[in-house]
Amino acid sequence: MKTLGLLGGMSAESTTLYYQELNRLVRERLGGLHSAQLLLWSVDFAGIAAMQAEGDWDGAGAVLAEAARRLEGAGADAILICANTMHLVADQVQAAVTVPVIHIADATADAVKAAGCKRPLLLATRFTMEKDFYRGRLAGQGVEAIVPDLADRDRLHAIIYDELCQGVMSAASKGEVLAMIARAEGADCVIFGCTEIGLLLAPEDLSVPVVDTALVHARTGVEFALG
Ligand code: GLU
Repeated sequence: MKTLGLLGGMSAESTTLYYQELNRLVRERLGGLHSAQLLLWSVDFAGIAAMQAEGDWDGAGAVLAEAARRLEGAGADAILICANTMHLVADQVQAAVTVPVIHIADATADAVKAAGCKRPLLLATRFTMEKDFYRGRLAGQGVEAIVPDLADRDRLHAIIYDELCQGVMSAASKGEVLAMIARAEGADCVIFGCTEIGLLLAPEDLSVPVVDTALVHARTGVEFALG
């Protein structure tokens, strides 16, 4: 089994999902006492989030690039950035290591297409919904994501940083996000494009297919690890 190097802590709430899912999938594939072979570099998210808010992507990318170098030095055979937003600096991280950075948007595009869909509603941070690094990468693979309107993007961004990333899951916010989904027209599926959204909503809450990026990213990591 190959070793996966996780860049986590973005936030710590969703890194636990990765840890659980990676181990669950390896046990599902190999059985018995098997579990995933992992290295985790978990950042203090406050510093990263401050750099995001200031638009200091180079600074945030440098922190992740250095962490990725250390993971490779410790034996990681591939790197997973355990968040969607920080894939904005995926190229900077990839340039720092010789092992592959397994891109979350590629895993997501594959899952959307496997579900027979091509026009997902993307629920994510404003960075992920509005900047080109994510939707552009999906579009390059034939997946044309739509996003909520500006007011809903703003509110969702606040729910992610002020609640989900701080371990707060409220029924009121869940209702708000479900209402956003109902308002957005023309989508054939929903992407949980922030790795914490699966802590608030479940696929059963929706009547269309759901692609949870944390889960499909973990699955792609396990496919790499087990070959
Ligand atoms: N985990 C989130 C994501 O998937 C949001 C936190 C962050 O900005 O990294 O984008």
